[in-house]
Amino acid sequence: MTGLSEFAEAIAKGALRVVDLTHTLDPDFPVIILPPEFGQCARFRMEEISAYDHRGPAWKWHNISMSEHTGTHFDAPSHWISGRDVPYGSVDEISPDRLIGAVVVIDCSAGAAENDDHELTVEIIHAWETEHGPVPRDAWVLMRTDWSKRRGADYLNMRDDGPHSPGPTPDAIRYLIEERDIRGFGTETIGTDAGQGSHYTPPYPAHFYLHGAGKFGLQCLNNLDQLPPTGALLVAAPLKIKGGTGSPLRVLAVVPS
Ligand code: MN
Repeated sequence: MTGLSEFAEAIAKGALRVVDLTHTLDPDFPVIILPPEFGQCARFRMEEISAYDHRGPAWKWHNISMSEHTGTHFDAPSHWISGRDVPYGSVDEISPDRLIGAVVVIDCSAGAAENDDHELTVEIIHAWETEHGPVPRDAWVLMRTDWSKRRGADYLNMRDDGPHSPGPTPDAIRYLIEERDIRGFGTETIGTDAGQGSHYTPPYPAHFYLHGAGKFGLQCLNNLDQLPPTGALLVAAPLKIKGGTGSPLRVLAVVPS
């Protein structure tokens, strides 16, 4: 047998805990802001259709709108030019078995507390692997920074020269893809790349390398401080938008209590 009934029972009895890695979709939650010459990402909006009133006496419902890349969201390979020709590269084409998988967490919170531009480097990954073993093949890798605890303007952390937030170096991302063949990379910040990621070669290396290799991204994650470094299961299933490059989603982790 597969152990699925034991799995369900362990969740029901609290032997396994489900951690919600999702921020609430809220019009006030920040979205990425690009230089003004580019198109912009829309915030979440909600409009009431009826609320048990003359517009619908027994029901309440809303129309909602947002970008594919608003709030806690998933990046598909087709989001980036490097992934434009990747097979099954849009959210509706991704095989459902790839939406559930192992996850490891690299804790960069101490460095991020000291330096808004803190980088996840190959050296940091090596140190993590010395302690926890190699990053498993086909796992999600999440970069914990505790950035999710920030509110308002501190989240984007915009300065005269653009946003400042932590992220991976080009070499770190290439290591995770080429040496460890990860499934995807996730962050607590507004993107999988650092705020100053446009200054790397190539610009936005996490987007460039991950999506070019058919890997996924998750950003604006929450509660990463509740996850163990290894041994958790991640559920990240984007909406099935035809040709969609990403989508807001509920991200769940199942962890031993
Ligand atoms: Mn995105």
